[in-house]
Amino acid sequence: MAVFDDSAFDAHERVVFCHDASTGLKAIIAIHSTVLGPAAGGTRLWSYASDEEALHDVLRLAQGMSYKNAMAGLKFGGGKAVIINTPDFAGSDSLYERYGEFVDQLGGSYVTAEDVGMSVEIMEIIARRTKYVAGLSKKESGAGGDPSPKTSFGIFKGIEAAVQFKLGHENLGGLSVAVQGVGKVGYHLCRFLHEAGASLVVADMDAGCIERVVQEFGATSVALEDILSQDVDVVAPCALGAVFNERSISSLQASVIAGGANNQLETAADGQRLHDAGILFAPDYVINGGGIINVASEYYRDLDDDEVWERVAAIGPRLTGIFEEAKSSDVPTNEVADRQAKKIISDATSGTDT
Ligand code: NAD
Repeated sequence: MAVFDDSAFDAHERVVFCHDASTGLKAIIAIHSTVLGPAAGGTRLWSYASDEEALHDVLRLAQGMSYKNAMAGLKFGGGKAVIINTPDFAGSDSLYERYGEFVDQLGGSYVTAEDVGMSVEIMEIIARRTKYVAGLSKKESGAGGDPSPKTSFGIFKGIEAAVQFKLGHENLGGLSVAVQGVGKVGYHLCRFLHEAGASLVVADMDAGCIERVVQEFGATSVALEDILSQDVDVVAPCALGAVFNERSISSLQASVIAGGANNQLETAADGQRLHDAGILFAPDYVINGGGIINVASEYYRDLDDDEVWERVAAIGPRLTGIFEEAKSSDVPTNEVADRQAKKIISDATSGTDT
């Protein structure tokens, strides 16, 4: 398997392959950068077509975490891990404990938390073997717990900033939003949007998730393949990545894309396509940074809950800055965000205060 030649390899500091025969654990931990602090990013449990695909995914996600943490102003570098889900996978306590031992062996250069397929309960099991874990049960101080409500609040503030910038609307009353995926992040986002007076169109392959947002927020459900092309003001992808490519972009009717899924663009060229089409794209790793802000406060114990909500709300103005720079320099928003993130990391590498 090519590691250094993988197209997602970007001078990652360390890639660790973890295997435990007795529990069946197969995992890959990728540390992209520890320049700003310990490499932080969640563990994803996912079925991959091949080990190469798992490696590619974890390399890409780890780099994204470096940029996300830099843009959120956190003392965290970027890393990510995947646990490979196989047909005979048994998510036993001993498997997750063994995984915790692998994380612990990295001595704090990698800090994990939950991502797709994981939960607070599983993080508690991992924490039996390592202290380098967050996303644990909520403490009395308010820190910790499932980070997705904070992620969704940051996305909500980002949508507000985007519609103000693109459509000149001060608030979301009367606007329509199509939400792709109404799991943890999508559900809480629907709640914030409904409270703000937006109407909702949703799609998810999980009938229970759909039912919940239809019942609670009066959402209209559409077929999976129709959600991105809805005639709405905003499309909010909150499922998995790589949803925007040449074909899906040509069918878009919304003028704003602002959602929580990681790595929404299939390739960087799709950012240019959106820019050329006059569609405002909120870079995913900036708008979905609320969860990692929550994780950082839990790990460093430096903010109370109110301060965390405030810091998450700052995602709105941060995005407005990116939109303004993209407009004045005629450069896609994803490129502006990459440029800003790289500068924060390179300034820290060279000792320039940022
Ligand atoms: P989740 O597993 O709780 O929810 C994802 C939902 O998407 C599920 O209900 C699933 O059925 C649905 N889904 C999957 N494929 C779909 C498709 N093609 N069309 C429609 N629905 C589909 O996960 P989550 O925690 O809500 O995360 C959602 C996204 O946000 C992921 O990309 C994740 O990496 C990203 N994210 C999550 C957090 C967080 O705090 N949980 C933070 C940052 C980024």
